[in-house]
This record gives sequence, structure tokens and C-alpha cells, in this order.
Amino acid sequence: CYKCGEYKKIREVIVANGRLLKHPNPLSVVGHNYYRYDYICKDCIKYFKKCNACPGLHRNEDIIKSKITGKNYCKNCFFREFMLCDSCGKEERKNVGLSYQGRFFCEPCFNQIFTRCQRCDIVAVKERCRIHNGRVLCNACYRRFSTIKSYNYIPNRYKQNKLAWDNDLYLGIELEVETVDKVKKNYEDWAKKTMNFLKRKKLSKYFFIKHDGTIDGFELVSHPLTLQYIHKNIHFNQILKWFRDNKFTSYQSGRCGLHTHLDRKFFNGSELTKLRLFYSTNRKWIEKFSKRGMVKEYCHSEKLNPNHFIKNGLKYKQEGKYWAIRMAPHGKRTVELRSFRGTLSYPRFIATLQFSDALAHFVKDVGVVMLTKEKSWNYFIEWCRRTHTYPHFVKYVTNRYELLQAEI
Ligand SMILES: [Zn+2]
Ligand SMILES: [Zn+2]
Ligand SMILES: [Zn+2]
Ligand SMILES: [Zn+2]
Repeated sequence: CYKCGEYKKIREVIVANGRLLKHPNPLSVVGHNYYRYDYICKDCIKYFKKCNACPGLHRNEDIIKSKITGKNYCKNCFFREFMLCDSCGKEERKNVGLSYQGRFFCEPCFNQIFTRCQRCDIVAVKERCRIHNGRVLCNACYRRFSTIKSYNYIPNRYKQNKLAWDNDLYLGIELEVETVDKVKKNYEDWAKKTMNFLKRKKLSKYFFIKHDGTIDGFELVSHPLTLQYIHKNIHFNQILKWFRDNKFTSYQSGRCGLHTHLDRKFFNGSELTKLRLFYSTNRKWIEKFSKRGMVKEYCHSEKLNPNHFIKNGLKYKQEGKYWAIRMAPHGKRTVELRSFRGTLSYPRFIATLQFSDALAHFVKDVGVVMLTKEKSWNYFIEWCRRTHTYPHFVKYVTNRYELLQAEI
């Protein structure tokens, strides 16, 4: 017997090769192994059932009883004709059910989970669709047509802009802003208006706009620019003024940040270490200048042990991502300074860009030991003063009144 393996009298062997045998062939039982395993004795027949659609017996665990026809089917035959909804488990005839990427759904579940893109008509998961100008669009269409790109959007090509005689430090700027009518959540409209304004000023090619789920607005992101190029061509004072005139905010809610990205290629390993050390030693001052306590969830400051740093250098790896200075944001080739609270006020905005540029150059000019000392902050400001390159920063950071001002 195939099931119990015992030798039975041929009379008791009732099934062979899945078929009932009236006159079992004695040779099959005795002589040939192959046939022997196809026989099942009377006692074991309870472990097997017939399929309604194909000949032969199947083990009970391979049989599915259809709720629609009430009949038994082997797995193969069952799934040729029926399907089980991937979401609710309901049985459905295959020609009635709907499929999405090899998964089957009953109609109600399908309509609940999926929708059609109103532009390209593709079936898409509802949750991942976005509304654009009142139309439901799939992710791909949305990405193509919306002004607000997804939070992880990266342009096909970064356009780097610098002046002919300029140094090679590119800055990327991310300014998070919130719109006045938060209830309507019509961020896309405002993003369009922003881009139209930038177009009129011939500045749109330097920027794109990204989604940010943590704020009631969006993020204005620049292509890589050098500080001097910004001073000469970008007119951030006009951009911030336009935001203010249109009742945007960045400082007020405390949610928005102003992040600067420094091109990592600009630094060697020990200079990267020095950047972090500067942030660690001077976190008190940087917090003051940033106008945002760095204790918040999304922006911790590292408390580094300088000796450990000096000994181990770069091997002192940065874990996690919510640091005031991030060494590898989203795998980008930049160092991100993310301690600054957002602002639409030009003095601190431009001071922040100058601070970022200054710090990048400063670490090339200063020793590690100096960066472990309290006085390194004042030394840094003195250094900035001497270069005559960062007047906005020096003026801002040495002005007690400015440092205490609330902003827009
Ligand atoms: Zn048996
Ligand atoms: Zn079957
Ligand atoms: Zn279902
Ligand atoms: Zn589409």
C-alpha cells in the first residue's frame, strides 16, 4: 500500500494508480516497485479524496472544497477555475475576480484597494496615488506633472553653478516653508505660484520643489551653487520677500528647517572629522545661531569625545540620521548641516549660507586640537572676520539683539 506500506491481500487492495480496480493485476503488487506504490489499501482510503475535475486520488491536504460548487478539487484544478481574494480570502470564479501583478482580488476588495490613474488609465494602489488639480494620478504621472516632487526626488542631473574664478565648494540649500491656508492643503497651487515667480525672476532653473510630510507646505531645494554665485545671481532677499508677501512662514511653527548641503568631495577624511568636532565642541553656540534647540527628536547634536576622535579618526562612525550635522544624508555625496531653524528673514538666511561656506573652509585651516577647545567658536568668528568673505555671518552672530529676535 502506498500509504501504510504494508502488504495486503490483493482483494483488499482497491485502488491502483488512482483508479478502482475490479481485477487487480497480481504482478503489479508483487513484482514491480513502481506499481506497488500506486496501490492503496481499503484501510487507507480515508486519507485520500477524488478531484471533481481530473481523474485520480489526491491526499486530503491537497483537496480544496469549493464553496461555490460544493465539490472537491485538487489544488491544481481548483486554482485553474477559482481564486481566493488576496485581501479577504473570499472564493471567486476566476473570470469574475480581478488581478493585480499576479495577485487576485474579489471585486469589492479590488475597488477598495485600487483605482485607475485618470491620466494613463493604469491600475494603481489607491494609497500611492496623489491628487493633482483634482485628478487622481498614479505615482509616475504625478511625478511628471506636479511641481512638488516626491520627498526622495533626485533630479536627473544636478546643474552646478559657479563663477569662473570661484572655489569649488558647492552648497545645496533646502528651505522648508509653510503656506497660509493650511486647511486647504493646496500646496501644489502654491508650489506652482512659487515656480512662476522664480521663472519671472529667471531663477527657476536653480530650484526644484519637494514634498515634505512633516510640515504644512513644501521644501524649496536649490541645485548646487557656490556662495559667490549666490551672492551675485540668486537674489535670495527677493525670494524670501515674495514668500513673506504671500503669507508663507518658515520660522513660526518651529517645524521647518533650513538645511545646507556641502559637497563631500571638497573635504578629505580628517576635514570631515573636524567638521563634526566643530559641531560637537560648539553645539551651544550653534544652537543659539540656529535658533532651534538641537535637543529635538529630529536634530540631535553629537557629544563626541575628542580624544576618541583624534585617536580613531574617521572610524568613529555616525549611526542614525537625526544629527545636527549628517555625514551621509540619504546616501548623497554631501555633508548636511541641518541644525538651522527655517526662516524667511534675510539676515539669518544669508548668514547661514555664509556660516556653512566659512566652516567648510575653516576646517581646512585649523588644527584638530583647536577644535576641541571652548575658544574655537570665537577663533572661528575671528577667522571669518579676517577673510573679509563672510560679513553677513559675522555681523549677525555678533549681534545679541538679532540672536534673540523671533522671525517669520
Ligand atoms: Zn494501507
Ligand atoms: Zn484535479
Ligand atoms: Zn476580497
Ligand atoms: Zn498614470
